[in-house]
Amino acid sequence: MTERLYYENAYLTEFDATVLACEERDGAHHVRLDRSAFYPTSGGQPFDTGALGGARVLDVYVDEGGEVWHALDRALGVGERVHGAIDWPRRFDHMQQHAGDHMIASALWRLLGGVTIGLHISCDVSTIDVAMPEGVTRISPEDIRRVEDDVNARVQRDVPVRCWFPEPEELAKLPLRKPPTVSEHVRVVAIGEDEMVACGGTHPATAGQLGLVKILGVAPARGKMRVSFVAGMRAFRDYRAQFDRAHEAAALLSTATENLPAHVSAMQESLRCAEFELNRLRRDVALRTLEDDLARAQRLPGGAAVVARMLDGDAGLAKDAASRLIRRPGVVALLGARAGEDRAAFVFARSGDVDIHMGQLLSGAVKPLGGKGGGRPDFAQGGGPEQALDAALALLGIQPDAAADD
Ligand SMILES: [Zn+2]
Repeated sequence: MTERLYYENAYLTEFDATVLACEERDGAHHVRLDRSAFYPTSGGQPFDTGALGGARVLDVYVDEGGEVWHALDRALGVGERVHGAIDWPRRFDHMQQHAGDHMIASALWRLLGGVTIGLHISCDVSTIDVAMPEGVTRISPEDIRRVEDDVNARVQRDVPVRCWFPEPEELAKLPLRKPPTVSEHVRVVAIGEDEMVACGGTHPATAGQLGLVKILGVAPARGKMRVSFVAGMRAFRDYRAQFDRAHEAAALLSTATENLPAHVSAMQESLRCAEFELNRLRRDVALRTLEDDLARAQRLPGGAAVVARMLDGDAGLAKDAASRLIRRPGVVALLGARAGEDRAAFVFARSGDVDIHMGQLLSGAVKPLGGKGGGRPDFAQGGGPEQALDAALALLGIQPDAAADD
């Protein structure tokens, strides 16, 4: 069985070993050593990369028998004595995330009774899935702050981190946060005085080396609560990015970062007022235009004036405008409001003294064009392509250009 050097010393970056096997599979050369400092993907912590005997380490994994394998970009000779060097920045980052996971899991357990199910360290953020009491899948912002405060206070106190293989008698007495998933060679990681759990991962020697731990979010995931977080340099880089973005936004608004929320809220309010005013003006213009249209409208043989127009506004405006036009006698109002790419909402209405069925007229105009609509004899609504307005005029025997000459 490969001796896993990182168990004893997580800070070992270089080592010498003997090649016990080298097999070519799936385009890579898979090497087994008598001893290795390379961490194989396990327990949510990704594998180490680096160099081994002049080859590049592409993957490190454990097989079903518990042997560590190194996937390399070139072959090594069996029996060869080789030198290994792990990519330390990558490994130390993983150590920071892994210890951050234990510390957040500990705080969630002690403060809120949450049981951590799994850890996943990805290249940008890390996530922990937690089974919370009563199956809740979210916690309040105040609880998130309590967890962050608890973790970062321990980081500031620089509490020690200890990893060891206790004898079975000792193990039986240890106050582990949750039962181990393995029964033999159980390794325990303790952080400070009240966090202890079985773990085969690599961790910094003290919590101070985490620098900073920040929870980025909490969301439901597969019936559990998923906590995403960053630790160490990831947390620093995140802080710097947030700082830069906040300052960029503040500069755009000529304000200080602490005034951003109030400033944005005031802008939203003034935008709401401006939109309200714009809609009111649009409505006024539309109604005035329709009055002009009515004065110049073409008349049907029975004497009714036909106003047909696409309006700059919504279906509500078309409805209002139509209602207003048909208050006077002898008016047919065929109004449309644009509702997206070549689609319009239509309102067809007439005065009480006009004898044309608006429901039938609208359905006769829109249905052949793939639209929908219908309604009462005096009032109908529907939707379809804009050409339906010309189709309706044609059904009334009017040349489209004669009714709306804009
Ligand atoms: Zn762990």
